[in-house]
Amino acid sequence: MSFKLGFIAVVLAVSARADALHEHFNAQQAYAYTAQIAGFGERWPGSPGHTKTETLIHQVLQKDGARIEADDFTATTPRGPVAVHNIIGKFNVSTDPNQQIFILAGHYDTLFQKGFIGANDGGSSTAILLSFADALAGQKTKMQIWLVWTDLEEAINAFTGDDGLYGSRHLAQKLRANGTQSRVRGFFLLDMIGDKELGVARETESDRKLQDFIARAAGQLGYGQYFFQYEVGIIDDHVPFINAGIPAVDVVDARFGRMGPEFDSMGEFHHANTDTMDKVSQRSLEVVGRTILLTVELLDR
Ligand SMILES: [Zn+2]
Repeated sequence: MSFKLGFIAVVLAVSARADALHEHFNAQQAYAYTAQIAGFGERWPGSPGHTKTETLIHQVLQKDGARIEADDFTATTPRGPVAVHNIIGKFNVSTDPNQQIFILAGHYDTLFQKGFIGANDGGSSTAILLSFADALAGQKTKMQIWLVWTDLEEAINAFTGDDGLYGSRHLAQKLRANGTQSRVRGFFLLDMIGDKELGVARETESDRKLQDFIARAAGQLGYGQYFFQYEVGIIDDHVPFINAGIPAVDVVDARFGRMGPEFDSMGEFHHANTDTMDKVSQRSLEVVGRTILLTVELLDR
């Protein structure tokens, strides 16, 4: 009897560990979330699609037992004041004031462009984070895991001066100002990772050591060919966090469709109204989702 009880206790202890976090990633659901979000239409701040996306994020976080926090403010932009809503879902918050934090982030707004639905750019990043929430539900990690949906990543006019990255700049500055930044072990930004022709760039401003952890996880899963086969520097939501002293990686597919002088520098479908669900694949979401969660497991040991 006592042996049996002991055995049950061991089984429970093992099942509560985060060793298999990546096995809890549901790619089919991630694809379904992407389709649902793309179906909301344009999702620039203030649009009905943006509000529907916020509601979905809150619903999933509540279902998954996250601690939900808001980072709301009004941004001064070339189109006047814009209400910005960063959404944070925290998992495994302990009572230890020095508990390390790991942040997984992605933007949920889309470009201010008529007819642009951003299935990949905005849709896939929002969706993969929702699936991370589902995977984290009931899984124990030593680190506190924050899922952060950044708002108003897209520039109103162009990525020059202070246009663009509004939400991430606000949150990064807040973390530095209140001292939380020193507890953040790392920050991964997911961007355009639903691309059917998946190829994650070795983004040149990103933290090399953390990229090497991602490469190790990808290698263990047999996904090595999808990561770091080319180098490029990208202005993205990771930059304000690097500037705040946080090691950060932009996990970005920077070649979306055909490349060439006749196309956008990030590919023919980038910021084009052809960024639709037929350019997204469940397999790509699976490769990136499992790899990133295994990387978190490696860093959590
Ligand atoms: Zn974009």
